[in-house]
Amino acid sequence: MNLPNIIGLSREELQSHLNEHSIPKFRLQQIWNWLYHHGVTCFDKMANVPAILRQHLQDNFVIQRPTIAFAQTSHDGTQKWLLRFSDGQEAETVHIPEADRGTLCVSSQIGCILTCKFCHTGTQTLVRNLTSAEIVGQMMVARDVFGEWPSPVGNRHVSNIVMMGMGEPLYNFENVKKALSIIMDHQGISLSRRRITLSTSGVVPMMEQCGKELGVNLAVSLHAVRDSLRDVLVPLNKKYPLKDLLEACRRYPGVNNARRITFEYVMLKGVNDTNANAKELLRLIRDIPAKINLIPFNPWPGTSFECSTPERIKEFSSIIQRAGYASPVRTPRGQDILAACGQLKSASERLRKSKLRPETTLSDAA
Ligand code: SAH
Ligand code: SF4
Repeated sequence: MNLPNIIGLSREELQSHLNEHSIPKFRLQQIWNWLYHHGVTCFDKMANVPAILRQHLQDNFVIQRPTIAFAQTSHDGTQKWLLRFSDGQEAETVHIPEADRGTLCVSSQIGCILTCKFCHTGTQTLVRNLTSAEIVGQMMVARDVFGEWPSPVGNRHVSNIVMMGMGEPLYNFENVKKALSIIMDHQGISLSRRRITLSTSGVVPMMEQCGKELGVNLAVSLHAVRDSLRDVLVPLNKKYPLKDLLEACRRYPGVNNARRITFEYVMLKGVNDTNANAKELLRLIRDIPAKINLIPFNPWPGTSFECSTPERIKEFSSIIQRAGYASPVRTPRGQDILAACGQLKSASERLRKSKLRPETTLSDAA
């Protein structure tokens, strides 16, 4: 019989297991600390837990992370890991290093049910949701790679999380919530909610719950300022049009000038990048505390979209900035290994099929 994974259980679930077996409450804290502060990978390492309890845990659970099936490093230092889960399914996680911090781009699903026209992930059907263990596991694998155990107090390699990998996190909210709650828990990994951003394509009915129950930063994939275009680019717009989406943003719990909503806007040449589009964007969000993240389109094999020219992006961005909004242009990272926004998954399948060595980059391979 396959034992359940202890990773990914909520505190409450672990507590109720201990209660059922008449194990004193204070042991929960010790076990939690070993798992998420020290990152141990076997029960034997839990030094202050009595041998009999360690044996009990071993008889009832495993401590299991996803395995790295394939790893690539971009020339800019971005790393992409194709992670394999216990059923053989795979998803990708990307680490983007910066001078004194690093952001982990985490997947919530294998594939995506939505079919945004400019997104590579959207060309693959949804295989399944990731479990809470598999979502927390992505963070734990990254920390294993950097040897970042126990949880450091100062600078961290994995200091921020963006739920911007494969999938739509608000279509897997229960597991995402459980996983992020574990990641935010002060006695474990202890990452502040201010360092976590969840990106949604606009699942309006789940946005309020996300704000109330998780309180993480919200990013919204806007990409178009008129319903007629957004219906095409982000087909979910037909269900939840711009008016409803923007209303949900206004109501997002905890949103204020210090905690702004990020609107993501992919720059598509000749599609959504005119000055008039920028002005309409400003009109739409005028009463929402917001910043606008312009994302140069990352191409992928088979797409007919092109990225706007740098001059166009600059002008678009300056219109927004002149209106008083922060409008950073997201520097594409890891493009050479197809690790940038919207490029995940199939490329790795292709790469593995071509039997490249692990740890090579596409440019090495060319
Ligand atoms: N499903 C969620 C989160 C994952 S996608 C969402 O759609 O918000 C993370 C971001 O990358 C989204 O803003 C998405 O629209 C954007 N994106 C997708 N494909 C892209 C591409 N080819 N180039 C640039 N950004 C892309
Ligand atoms: Fe799914 Fe987001 Fe890609 Fe749209 S952009 S297909 S919601 S992963």
